[in-house]
Amino acid sequence: MIPAALAGEPKMTVNELKKYRLKKKILRLLYEEGSCSGPELGKQLGISLPTALILVNDLIGEKLVVPRGAGVSTGGRKPSMYGLSGDSLYVIACDMGRYSAKMALFNVHNQRVSALRSVDTHIDDPELVEKLYRAAEALVAETGIPAEKIAGVGVDMPGLVDAHQGINFTIKDQARQPVRDLLGRRFQKLVYVDNDARMQAFGEYTFGKARGCRNALIVNWSWGLGLGMILNGRLYGGTTGFAGELSHIRMADDGELCICGKRGCLETLASSNAILRLARKGIAEGRISQLTRQFAGRPGELTVEQVIAAARLGDEFSISVLSETGLAFGKGLSYLIQLLNPEVIVLGGPVSKANQFVLTPIQQALNRYCLEHILGNTTVVTSDMDEDSGLLGTASMLYQFLFCDFQTAAPQGLPEGMSLPPPSETPYNLPGAPLAVPEEHKEAISYMNTDIQL
Ligand SMILES: [Zn+2]
Repeated sequence: MIPAALAGEPKMTVNELKKYRLKKKILRLLYEEGSCSGPELGKQLGISLPTALILVNDLIGEKLVVPRGAGVSTGGRKPSMYGLSGDSLYVIACDMGRYSAKMALFNVHNQRVSALRSVDTHIDDPELVEKLYRAAEALVAETGIPAEKIAGVGVDMPGLVDAHQGINFTIKDQARQPVRDLLGRRFQKLVYVDNDARMQAFGEYTFGKARGCRNALIVNWSWGLGLGMILNGRLYGGTTGFAGELSHIRMADDGELCICGKRGCLETLASSNAILRLARKGIAEGRISQLTRQFAGRPGELTVEQVIAAARLGDEFSISVLSETGLAFGKGLSYLIQLLNPEVIVLGGPVSKANQFVLTPIQQALNRYCLEHILGNTTVVTSDMDEDSGLLGTASMLYQFLFCDFQTAAPQGLPEGMSLPPPSETPYNLPGAPLAVPEEHKEAISYMNTDIQL
């Protein structure tokens, strides 16, 4: 039994369907908890211990579940523990930036089981689908994992992404916007597509410094300012999934031109681009700095990492550039804090590597612009997940959907056989409907529906 995540439920008798759903719930519990005992599973599922053990044994026979030794005794004999089999299912996760993408394979324990592959592509690349497919093909071949064990492909990417429809509205060529369908056709697998900042937020919420926080804001501080929001313990996408466009909040009426076509956006004052613009301006003006000495004849080669490295060596000009950027960013964050009252703001991405050189000016700006009582409950920290939050968030989201229980009756308007997950079952407030599987994909993912007889 491989979970029929999104393809509607197969034709089964009432009893078979009941067992099938219970087994999916067991897989989901084991995915979330890591390991559970028979009594714990019975209690969580509201079934007797013997029934729970029969289902677990079935799943062991199907090589999806393995025994995990003895648990802690609550008085009697130590109960046997069960967990997911590490080589049962895998997903391909891809984290796209503005100029390149990273890709890796993850097992059901959220462990990376392949090399990290870099793909030279971007959302407007006409070869995007083909490049991702070829990279994935090579990764899978390297690991020797059979292709039928790859349960799905998750891709996070910059832009206005409607995860429900699998469309990225920021892609310039309209024919390439339905990116989930295009990837699904090429991969012949279940595909999940979402916004990069949201998946990074989900990664931080599931594995990083936002773990356990009910209200957290996660910012990928890079060429843009990608914001992902965890509100009331759930990933927040807004009505159409576009919430969190922090980059393009206007901060200055007559500011620099932004890539969005408007002027004075926060991104023009507080992103990697802003740092480079300030640094290059200083170099052109002959400011006394090691950057001027190094890059006077070739300012185009300067990178944000080099500005940060110079600041660490005590270069005053570099420190002032990072400070100015941090102050501008802090002012932007102050609006978020006043509006949303978060417990924590986690900063990831290349600019966050500047640590105290940006954290101190951010705090100064927050002290200046936020109400004391609101600010007092918010901490601003840098991520310790390095660049992995997007990949892990995407892999984890894909597994959540694979093990999701789609069992409520199909509401009007949905195709026959499709049903909505109850809100409590999904980690994400996807508006309206489940991830619809287009007709042409149904056959491709039908292997998920095979061999599910109990
Ligand atoms: Zn803008």
